Amino acid sequence: MGTFIAVDIGGTQMRAASYAPDRLEPIKQKKIATLASEPGGFDRLIQVIEEVWPKDQPVEAIGLGSPGPLDPHTGYLLAPPNNPEWHNFPLAPNVEKHFGVKAYLDNDANLAGLAEYRFGAGKGHHDVLYITVSTGIGGGVIIADRLLQGYHGLAAELGHSIIDPNGPPCSCGHAGHLESYSSGPAIVKYVLGELEAGTKSSLKRGEALNPRDISEAAKSGDALAIKAYQRAGEYLGIGIASFLHAFDPSIIIFGGGVSQVGDLLFEPFQASLRKRVFHPRYLEGLSFTTATLGDDAGLLGALALARMMSSQNG
Ligand SMILES: [Zn+2]
Repeated sequence: MGTFIAVDIGGTQMRAASYAPDRLEPIKQKKIATLASEPGGFDRLIQVIEEVWPKDQPVEAIGLGSPGPLDPHTGYLLAPPNNPEWHNFPLAPNVEKHFGVKAYLDNDANLAGLAEYRFGAGKGHHDVLYITVSTGIGGGVIIADRLLQGYHGLAAELGHSIIDPNGPPCSCGHAGHLESYSSGPAIVKYVLGELEAGTKSSLKRGEALNPRDISEAAKSGDALAIKAYQRAGEYLGIGIASFLHAFDPSIIIFGGGVSQVGDLLFEPFQASLRKRVFHPRYLEGLSFTTATLGDDAGLLGALALARMMSSQNG
């Protein structure tokens, strides 16, 4: 069996790495600026793959991870953010055509979940719920050792679960999605709204606030900042209660920057979750943990996808 190539197409960087069939340490690794809004993105992708291409080994398959929405069944990108050139773009088919090697595509959150399940915090579990809480909220679900992709390949957009159809606007344009309550920007927006309404706080109106400023204020005892994370955790518990009812995982793995605040978010989350599951059995033996692969999750997920698909198809 030959080498596998993994590619993680991020908002700012494209990373590529080559791997021996049974290893997690890359043989070669390269990165290049994505420059999503500039033309020539596909050429840059080909270039970064060529830089890690093995000289003396056949390549078995290429795994590609990208922000969605996309179709993993056809390998088409549908509408990646900030990249008009790649709307309805046959990414995996074009990579396949260029290199003459099978290429597989899935979205970054699904792949981070797949990576944590195969190589990280979820190792040994068969039913895994991965949720990343950051600028957006994304999900990856593994059921009975299979990555849930869905009929259109659009599973599992957990951040766009509807919490309240009359709720605040989501980044996707719809109202009241989980992301519009518990993501980093949602926490900031809530604080700014409260400051506007005259709520007293050590945080000041007009400052360019980020979730970290608010978590620091919360740790110094600022009541508004604490409430902002309590509210985010409360809604996260509402969302995840529904995910337990739908998927019944044995582990929930939290990725993304907002998850790194710890108990500030997790205590209200746990309390909210316990209150809302319709049977306590869901919580028996259920593990909660943070992701362990960090920035490598995207590449390792693309690697896991390439290995998984080539073993299923070969
Ligand atoms: Zn949404």
